[in-house]
Amino acid sequence: KEFTQIKPIIDQALKLLSQNFQKAEIGYNFKIDNPSLEAQIDTIQFTQVLFNLLINAIYISPKKSIISVKVSNTSSHFIMEIIDEGPGIPGDLNAKIYEPFFTTKPVGEGSGLGLSVVHGIIKSHRGEIINFDNKPTGTVFQIKLPLKM
Ligand code: ADP
Ligand code: MG
Repeated sequence: KEFTQIKPIIDQALKLLSQNFQKAEIGYNFKIDNPSLEAQIDTIQFTQVLFNLLINAIYISPKKSIISVKVSNTSSHFIMEIIDEGPGIPGDLNAKIYEPFFTTKPVGEGSGLGLSVVHGIIKSHRGEIINFDNKPTGTVFQIKLPLKM
């Protein structure tokens, strides 16, 4: 598989979602330690991951809050964090949120498929996804993917 630059994919996803951010009155910031970082990732699938995580974060975020995307890397992997300032995820739901069709949203607002699709894509790239509390409020979704498949 080809090596693809990560920064332009994230820039593009944030640009495509700029209306969603604006309508929700939420800001974002994006920081990447190495702007020319490349990995053997599928652009469309990685964009799908970004969309699903960012749309969840936008849905849950209070007005005037900020969603942060941070990318760091080692010699073998890159780590992407999507951090919101929402209410967080209750501990007892942590085992369920990646299951297909699990949703806490009202009927018609969520399919419950977003995180299960994300999980599947990350697995197929031999990566890992975890979530934990942001301090003092919100959620961090952390994805770790190999640079080389
Ligand atoms: P959907 O968005 O259709 O509900 P997802 O698979 O994307 O399905 O998410 C499943 C559930 O995980 C959501 O209904 C919500 O309860 C929880 N969740 C996902 N992202 C967040 C987040 N950033 N903050 C709080 N809860 C979240
Ligand atoms: Mg979703």
